[in-house]
Formats: sequence, structure tokens, C-alpha cells
Amino acid sequence: DPAPASPLLQNLNPEQLAAVTLPAGNALILAGAGSGKTRVLTTRIAWLLQTGQVSPGGILAVTFTNKAAKEMMARLTAMLPINTRGMWIGTFHGLCNRFLRAHWKLAGLPSTFQILDTQDQLSAIKRLMKQFNVDEERFPAKQTQWFIAGAKEDGLRPRDVEVRSDDDRKKVELYQLYEDQCQREGVVDFGELMLRSYELLRDNDPVREHYQRRFRHILIDEFQDTNRLQYAWIKMLAGHTVEGRFVPGDNSVLAVGDDDQSIYAFRGARVGNMADFVGEFGVAHQIKLEQNYRSYSNILDSANALISHNKKRLGKNLRTDQGPGEPVRVYESTSDFAEAQWMVEEMRQLVRDGIERKEMAVLYRSNAQSRVIETALFNAAVPYRVYGGLRFFERAEIKHALAYLRLLENKDDDTSFLRVVNFPPRGIGARSIEQLQDAARAAGRSLHDAVAAVGGKAGANLSAFVAKIDVLREQTQGLSLREIIELVLQHSGLIEHYRSEREGADRIENLEELVNAAESFVTQEGFGRDAVAMPVDELRQSPASQGLDPNLPITDEPLVPDAETGETMSPLAAFLTHAALESGDNQAQAGQDAVQLMTVHAAKGLEFDCVFITGMEEGLFPHENSLSDHESLEEERRLMYVAITRARQRLYLSHSQTRMLHGQTRYNVKSRFFDELPEAALKWLTPKNQGFAPSAFGYGAGYASTRGGSYGSKESFASPPVPPQKAAPSHGLRSGMQVFHNKFGEGTVLALEGSGDDARAQVNFPRHGIKWLALSVAKLTPV
Ligand code: ATP
Ligand code: MG
Repeated sequence: DPAPASPLLQNLNPEQLAAVTLPAGNALILAGAGSGKTRVLTTRIAWLLQTGQVSPGGILAVTFTNKAAKEMMARLTAMLPINTRGMWIGTFHGLCNRFLRAHWKLAGLPSTFQILDTQDQLSAIKRLMKQFNVDEERFPAKQTQWFIAGAKEDGLRPRDVEVRSDDDRKKVELYQLYEDQCQREGVVDFGELMLRSYELLRDNDPVREHYQRRFRHILIDEFQDTNRLQYAWIKMLAGHTVEGRFVPGDNSVLAVGDDDQSIYAFRGARVGNMADFVGEFGVAHQIKLEQNYRSYSNILDSANALISHNKKRLGKNLRTDQGPGEPVRVYESTSDFAEAQWMVEEMRQLVRDGIERKEMAVLYRSNAQSRVIETALFNAAVPYRVYGGLRFFERAEIKHALAYLRLLENKDDDTSFLRVVNFPPRGIGARSIEQLQDAARAAGRSLHDAVAAVGGKAGANLSAFVAKIDVLREQTQGLSLREIIELVLQHSGLIEHYRSEREGADRIENLEELVNAAESFVTQEGFGRDAVAMPVDELRQSPASQGLDPNLPITDEPLVPDAETGETMSPLAAFLTHAALESGDNQAQAGQDAVQLMTVHAAKGLEFDCVFITGMEEGLFPHENSLSDHESLEEERRLMYVAITRARQRLYLSHSQTRMLHGQTRYNVKSRFFDELPEAALKWLTPKNQGFAPSAFGYGAGYASTRGGSYGSKESFASPPVPPQKAAPSHGLRSGMQVFHNKFGEGTVLALEGSGDDARAQVNFPRHGIKWLALSVAKLTPV
């Protein structure tokens, strides 16, 4: 082959090179983990820009997280001396927010609209249900929330939802009431960001045509996890529908994905979008990448073997030129506490081996698992950082501070009003608040505007609160974002309140961190008051953007004033949006060398030198909700595939015999996924399958007690091949049997594992769900 002309194209394999330099047109890259999909996507953008095929303003790229978007921006600026601001690179939510900020009026939103995160959304729904006396037993608020989110993900407004029962009717009614409430309060939830911007594109021809002309190249990473609405949104930007048939436009759409990493079906992701895309966009180029550059082969073989147990697959191969590397290490502990201790020890060794802490990740299936790990790390003074879970911006004290700030921006934000009207406590009781809510409803106004209607002492307290907010709003005029936040923290009484609390020091620290977050937001993101005006002219002149509608504002800057009124978003409003959308990664700690903790879901697309996957137990991973259903079990397996493929050099899998979860000790057996990994790639740090029938090996009786037995150093332990368990059960239980447990009541035995002291039963209790029980502890009597 001739040497690639541009340095950009060096270090690409032939398939990657082909993908990066594809001619205009729609294309799909379907390839396994670590094969360079994201790298190809980023390099393609750089190549398109460098060869002058498109200007920055003609690029729309969708990434899976804000972190990924930032990384992509950083890599692009490193590759090319360009101004990346004109590019639209971000998550679906981030991009829709940007779009709606530019066209808020057309979208029927107030210019100051704020974003409800999932927590706020739930409390808004609860409030509504209480107001309309909806039975929470029959319609749990969480379920209503899922219903609404699900409808929006399918692009359905209340009137579009098919009603098949009285329950449906009630839910649709709640959906409508919720919509009205959000509109009145000037807030939008995550689903609404997407749906609103889709509808605007659908219903407004000039806007749609403008963006269709503008975005010559649309690139989407992690395409396997797009939902119906996101796909429809892409179609709006890249074609039009004639008599129900989609006709692609002349933009180029590059979709990049891996069906084996589809892990958001539970949230409406549709892996079928890939097949639809190939058909509807008449995809001419499908590229496969089969070389994995991330992991040593022990890790990759494990991932490949595991995922081969899934039936529903499009089928791909992955190979690596790297050697086997270290074996995958497996550890069994007696308790979750011991598991965390072991991990801390192992990390110490890794540090001694010269591995940076930020190259170590601890992954878990559910957020609840992180607490024990955090405690162990904290006690050992190992710096760590938790992604996801309770994100920085979701902590109670931060939410309180943000609520005050949001009320400055939008007095009608009732959710924020209710959060802080009596926090810190100022003698406003539940009764007064109900009174206020009634008055507001009767007058069709916000809570803020209705306080005058409440009399007596309660009324006076409410008025004092509103006056405080209004005065703060006055006082903060003309201040910098940092000054605004400092003022609000002091005058809201939050700092004083936490100072008097026993464990308030941490919270105060977090509040101070909020000031830092705002500071770096202003400096790093360029949202500050002196943010430069964008090179709109440059955009208009570039050949690729010829034909843009001159009457529409080109919105490359969140701070670009409204074309008609000159209205611009305040730094505070921009920061509040950032707080709702951002994963809350603490900027100040970003540089610190800290161990990374996150759920497997949050780890998608990332890579680390060392990965610990913890809690590898039945009921935990795979999750108990998935055990009875084949489809969900396959999703759990994909999740495990994602987890394994995050590791470059070393992978650790651990499980524990007992675990405290949700205030209960659970006795768990190790995950079935262990049986699906290739024995040759594994190294058991603790004896495998304790309690197996030793006679099957012909070792003789002396070998019977495995637990606590001496195996010499763990390094020298080699696992013998292990036969399937055939020991006769002594507990007399069979699967399918009805049993009684004195705490959980009656249940059905689903499965049995192990024998003797290690015998365990999986039982489905109608009232408490599916549990694994150790039969030496749990008393189960057949009924
Ligand atoms: P995932 O499915 O997990 O998102 P991916 O397919 O997006 O993975 P990348 O993250 O793009 O994979 O790449 C995996 C790693 O391999 C990265 O560190 C990347 O820099 C490296 N890599 C990709 N292609 C090459 C190459 N041709 N030569 C050397 N390293 C490469
Ligand atoms: Mg990727």
C-alpha cells in the first residue's frame, strides 16, 4: 500500500483506514469492544476537517457521556489547530439542550427553562399524585415515572398513548397533569429535552431544513443503545419521510456500535435500530473491525467465551496480537467486607508495581455495593473517586443550594420552591404548605406567586421566605457566578445550618466545592461573561455551509443572544443546566491520582489498566430481576462482556459468600458467569468450588475439608479440573418444591447448588422476590 499521506492516518489498520476515509454516504461500523470504533470516529472527524470536506459547524457527533465528548474535543484539538466550538459534539441530551436553548421560543419554552433530573422528576410526580389523591399503593410514583419516561422514549404524548385499561387511563391522565405542571413551572425532564427537540424539527420546516443543510456529517457512537426517539431524531436531521417511507438526504451518517454491548434495553434502547439503519439509510458501506487493541488475550478470550453463550447475536470476531498477559484472577471471600479488604491489599501491590491509581477501576452491578468498598478505601487512605451513583450534583446539600439558585432564575420552579421553603427549617409546616398549594392551584399560579393568599403566622413565614428569595435576586444582579453562589450559600442559611449539624463538615466542604465547580465552569467552558462571540461569519463563508438560511440564528454559543430580542442565557442559567446534565465529575479532583469506582453501565466506552469486577454472585450479577427471563439474562451477559473488556492488562473477578445488602445479610453463590469463562485464562486465588465432592478426583478422604484447609501460598495453587457436582443432597429439597421460611413466608424453590455446609437454594418468595439462601443457616421447611 502507498503510505497514507496524512499523519492523522498513521497508526490505523487497513479496515480502520478505510472507515476513516470513506467517501460521503451512510455507513455502519459494527465491531467488538476495543477494536478502535471510537478512535475511528474521532479520526474521521479530524480527517474530514483537514481535507476541507466540512467545516467545524457542519459536524454533529453524538457520544455516550459528557466525559466522552470532552475527550473527543481534546483529541481533536490535539490533532488539528481548529476551533472546536462550532462543532456539535455531545450526548443526545446535551445536544438537544443546546438546540432548545437556541429555539426556546419556537419550542414553547421560557428562555430560562431548567432541567429536572430524575430525582426532581420523581418528587414532582409524588407531589402531583398527592395533590390529586392518587392511590400510591396502586400507582407507585416510580412506576408512573417509568411510564412517562417510556412514553417519551417512544415519542408519545399523552394523547398518543394507547389506552387498554382503566389503569392505563389513569396513568395517561397523570402524564397529562405532569406535562401541564412542568410547562407551568418552566422545567423539562431528560425525556422532554429529546422529545421537544424532535417535535420542533418535525413540525417546523425552516428549522429542520436549516439543520439538515448545516450538519453535513452526523456521527453516532454506541449506536446499539439508541432508543426509538433518538433514532427518529437522527432521521429528522438526515432525510425526510414520504408517504410513510424514509428517504435519506445527502448528509452522511456514520453509525458505530456493537450489538454485544447493548445494555440499556431496560431503558428503551433498541438494538434493532442497527438493522433499521442499514435498511432505511441504504447503507452502502459496512465495515468490520476485528483486531482488538485494548486487552491481552486472557482477557479477550474470557470476553469472547462468555458472550458466545448468548443466542441473539449478529456475530463478530475479535482477535489480538498481544500475548496472553496475566491470567484473570478470581477471588472468593467470606464477606463483602473481606472482599473490599482484599481489593485494597491488591491495589497496594499494583501501586508498588508502578500502576497509577487512576488506571484502576472497581466495577459493580449496583450502586448499593459501593459503600463497603468506599469505606475500605477510605480507611486505608487510598484516594478514590465515584462516578455515577450519587453524583456530586445529586447530593442533598448541593441540591438545596441549586434549588435556591434555580429560584433566582425562575421563581415559578415549584419543585425547587418546595425543596427549600422550609430548609433550613423556618417554621413552615406541612399544613401551611398544603394550604399554599391549594391556593396556588385555585389561582392557577406558582407557589411563589400565591403566598399572599395564606394568612396567619404561616402566611407571614411564607412571605418572609419569598421576600428573601426576591431580595437575593436583587442583590445578585451584576455579580459574577462565583459571587452569586457565595452570597446564596451565606444568605440562604445553608452554611449556618450545616455548621450546627454533627456531620455537617462534609456537607460544607461539598458546598465549597460547588463554588469551585462554578469557577472552573466559567474558566474552562468559556461560559463566562466575556466569552468570545463565535465565528459565525466564518461558518457562513465556508463552502460546506453554503445555503444556510440567513434568517435563522446559528447557535454555536450557548451565550449567543436571541436574534430578535438580544436575550442571552446568564452564566448562572448555563451553570444550572450544566449541573443537571453533567455527570457531576468533580473538576477539582480530576487531576488527582485516584482509584475509579463506578457501575458497569457507567464504564461503557472507557478503559483501564486494571479492572476489578466485584460481587460476582447469583442475584447480584446476574441481577436477581433477570434470573427468570432469558432476554434479561442475555442483557446481563452483555453487561458482563462490557465489564471484562474495560481491562487492558489485569482483570480481577471476586465474589463473596455473604453480603450485607439493603440491610439484610445475603448468602450468595458465585455467579454462573464463572462457568462460562475459559479455565485456561483464569487463576483461582482461593480454592475453586469449595465443597465439591473430592472423591470424584480420587484424592481420597483426607481432602474432604476444603474450607480453611492449607493450600500453601496462593500463588502456587493450581486448580484441578472440576467435575460437575453430583453429591447427593442431604437437605431433601428439590426444585419446584413449596417451602416456608419464617421471615419470607412461602416460596418456590427455583434452584439448588452445593452440598453439605455449602448447600444453597434459590427461592422465589412472592412477597419478597427471589433470594438465594444458605441451607445451613436458613430454615426452610417443605409445605
Ligand atoms: P468500546 O467498544 O469499548 O467502546 P472501541 O471499539 O471504541 O471500544 P477504542 O476505545 O476506540 O475502541 O480503542 C480501544 C483502544 O485501542 C484505545 O486505547 C485506542 O487508542 C487503541 N487503538 C485503536 N486502534 C488502534 C491502532 N490501530 N493502533 C494502536 N492502538 C489502537
Ligand atoms: Mg468506544
